[in-house]
Amino acid sequence: MWVIVDHSGDEVEDVSLELLGQARDLADRLGLSATAVLLGDGVRGLAPLLGQCGADTVYLAESPLLSAYNPDAYAPVLTGLTRRQQPSIILWGATDQGRDLAPRVAARLGTGLSSNCTRVDLSEDGLLVMTRPVYGGKASCNVVCSQARPQMATLQPGALPVRRPDTGRQAQVIAVNVSLSAQNLRLRLEEVIKIPPSDLDVTEAEVIVAGGRGVGSKEGFHLIEQLAHLVGAAVAASRPAVDAGWAPYERQVGLSGKTVAPRLYIACGISGVNHHVVGMRDSRAVVAIDQDAQAPIFQMADLKIVGDLHELLPSLIERLRRLRQERGSAEDEEILRTLANVPSARQVS
Ligand SMILES: Cc1cc2nc3c(=O)[nH]c(=O)nc-3n(C[C@H](O)[C@H](O)[C@H](O)COP(=O)(O)OP(=O)(O)OC[C@H]3O[C@@H](n4cnc5c(N)ncnc54)[C@H](O)[C@@H]3O)c2cc1C
Repeated sequence: MWVIVDHSGDEVEDVSLELLGQARDLADRLGLSATAVLLGDGVRGLAPLLGQCGADTVYLAESPLLSAYNPDAYAPVLTGLTRRQQPSIILWGATDQGRDLAPRVAARLGTGLSSNCTRVDLSEDGLLVMTRPVYGGKASCNVVCSQARPQMATLQPGALPVRRPDTGRQAQVIAVNVSLSAQNLRLRLEEVIKIPPSDLDVTEAEVIVAGGRGVGSKEGFHLIEQLAHLVGAAVAASRPAVDAGWAPYERQVGLSGKTVAPRLYIACGISGVNHHVVGMRDSRAVVAIDQDAQAPIFQMADLKIVGDLHELLPSLIERLRRLRQERGSAEDEEILRTLANVPSARQVS
């Protein structure tokens, strides 16, 4: 049972820890071992956490040519390792890297891949049952790969909980021989440009501030952007806000836009029509601001704020600015943590 690890070089991405917890559980039920596969350069220091989060073994493939993600390098290393070790199941994060890499490896191995799953489980006869949304999220289907091996799935980040690390657990680290030649790499990384969270792709963002028709105007939408900037969130929009030209199409969430699953989704002036909700219903916590107490978005909100956003947002922005000046950004993080961990629905008028 393998998990291909996503990392930034210094830190393992949460999605890989989520997958490891799931892999541990499935491996125990199948009597298999759980293995984390770590590719990079100088990343051995990440192995202990992988062990603490459920891996029995860490395959460590290190090379300067693996220091940044490069499909020309990662795909052959993973394909070769898979051919040699013959895992039964491989789980990947449905991240930029996983979405790019998993199909390449699946094609080379001649096996199937179920992408963007929300769940995986086992059938009675021990096959991996991969659940993924279909028809724009209106339904989900279960996929099994009965013949080809390994069985492979990419899973949406945030779909599973992260298991608390067990500091008593240790994984055996096995170094993988990497034979790559720079001449065979058609891609070369020139530069990494970090983008501010507010410009992040909405599918990657941990926190999202979204505006809908209720925002009223392009000027009104600046409030959404200011709030997002202050709390390190990405900006998103409902379709009417995009149609009105207040936000670009790549920021649209919903049936004909993007599907997101952030830690926190702050919906401002969005009524909660199903076409929008299918794109954000996997958010871990939802804060909704709407002047209509009967707005459907409140049915799924953890924190409901009934009021005029043109009054609420400026005062919230002002308060966050003041707190930031007085106490630095720690206070904002405290507020976000509190909002993201709202345990049950309550109403604030
Ligand atoms: C095939 C198809 C695909 C679609 N795809 C998408 C999609 O991908 N994404 C999407 O979002 N929609 C999509 N739609 C459109 C969808 O049906 C809804 O029309 C849309 O989601 C509504 O957007 P909204 O909530 O911003 O606007 P509205 O439904 O008009 O809601 C605006 C809300 O703002 C509140 N409000 C107004 N003024 C204020 C104020 N001053 N303060 C606080 N609250 C206020 C109102 O009470 C209301 O609840 C699709 C539709 C179709 C037919």
